Amino acid sequence: MRLPERVDNWIDGAACPAASGATIEIVEPATGRAFGRLAASGAADVDAAHAAAARAFPAWRDVGPAARADALERLAALIERDLDRLALFESADTGKPRSLARSVDIPRAAANFRFFAGLVRGWTPDEDLAAPHAVSRVLRRPVGVAGCISPWNLPLYLFTWKVAPALAAGCTVVAKPSEETPLTAAALGELGREAGLPPGVLNVVQGRGAECGAAIVAHPGIPVISFTGGTETGARIMSVAGPMFKTVALELGGKNPTIVFGDADVDQAVAGAVNAAFRNQGQICLCGSRILVERSIYPRVRDAVVARASALRIGDPLDDATEQGSLVSAAHRSKVAAAVERARAEGGRILCGGGPPDPATLPERVRGGAFFRPTVIEGLPMDCATNQEEIFGPVVTIQPFEGEAEAVALANASTYGLAASIWTADRARAMRVAEQVECGIVWLNTWMLRDLRVPFGGMKRSGVGREGGEDALRLFTEPKSVTWPA
Ligand code: NAD
Repeated sequence: MRLPERVDNWIDGAACPAASGATIEIVEPATGRAFGRLAASGAADVDAAHAAAARAFPAWRDVGPAARADALERLAALIERDLDRLALFESADTGKPRSLARSVDIPRAAANFRFFAGLVRGWTPDEDLAAPHAVSRVLRRPVGVAGCISPWNLPLYLFTWKVAPALAAGCTVVAKPSEETPLTAAALGELGREAGLPPGVLNVVQGRGAECGAAIVAHPGIPVISFTGGTETGARIMSVAGPMFKTVALELGGKNPTIVFGDADVDQAVAGAVNAAFRNQGQICLCGSRILVERSIYPRVRDAVVARASALRIGDPLDDATEQGSLVSAAHRSKVAAAVERARAEGGRILCGGGPPDPATLPERVRGGAFFRPTVIEGLPMDCATNQEEIFGPVVTIQPFEGEAEAVALANASTYGLAASIWTADRARAMRVAEQVECGIVWLNTWMLRDLRVPFGGMKRSGVGREGGEDALRLFTEPKSVTWPA
């Protein structure tokens, strides 16, 4: 199976290069080698994609939810058919283990389409309200052309998390994946055609955020923006979309606590904490990057976390035995390495990891890759930069707490508020702590268990708005009330 040497936009049902002809090199981070060129699109390409989407919108809206759901289910089946190809693309683009892409990323992308197809089939968006003086009907209709912008860490999974509900709700779409990871989104455009999506319903524009992404956000014909990415980028998007009164959902960064109480099943909690810290090389917004452990079991949990983290197998992402692939780029690895140096300077003790693996320990093919060893740091206060700023790599801090109140205080001592996982045998305590942690998503004795029906998103600097379930359908629709005398 070969990687594409050229990745273009997908506009109006056909592949096309950027209007300017400009391209960007695509690099496989696990090897450090370039393998292709990507269309570097700008405002002209976004205009073309928008025009196609606007033309396609009335028919897509009017075809009705059942026909849209049928098309999305066909698309889900095609993603499943192409599982191996898409998993290879995802792994080559991101450096993640291909086995992870095959077992999680790509199946979850297909599941996104299936879920929103099923949801919209049974969705009755209109609501009748009666009172003695008035009768009202609230209508909910798709807003038009939706702008969807996604990051590089879970490329197809997060791209489809936006595209699927937008299409299900009856919007047409102008979507942009990260310029670091363009392959699977480009493939999705073509699969959409095979699934019978009419030209213009799903448009994929490729290119840099500052040019192509910014053009989507600023486009006056795109009234809703669904964005997942960094908090700084989210702020920039808000500053443009706000004065234009666009509907915006922002899924941003996180600095999520993993809270382990003294009565937890220690083996399960340690396995969960390590998984939460290092899955996808720690590059998931939901990763638990601060492990808080009740003092009574702190030494035991800390030593077990370090042992497990040190034992994670780093290697070629194409090898099924590999548990840790490479980071998304050499540039990102430099940022992670700088964050670890800062932690040292802040007085942190590096218990394991702390830098890249010795290249001699890696297979020949990936010796030039952007690998970094799973790193556990202790001895840092909660207000230091290491504990406050998102590192978005395989780096976790660990520290003890005394009792429930301190656990909650430490968990909440963050400007972020995306997710938390709580490990305890006491369900009442778990619910009490869940109530008090300031975040949008809480897991009890598990991490990243997916339930597509629930609202997904964060508070504080982790974002605004919710996606997932009916919240996503509401994001892409606009209510209108019609009232008459009773
Ligand atoms: P990023 O913000 O750099 O880029 C995200 C996307 O936005 C990319 O497609 C990029 O090209 C585009 N973009 C960049 N500048 C833009 C601009 N000015 N206007 C419009 N679009 C622009 O983020 P990233 O580095 O790709 O991803 C990592 C970040 O994403 C982390 O902070 C992580 O926590 C966050 N993230 C959040 C969630 C969540 O659900 N909350 C999920 C995954 C990742």
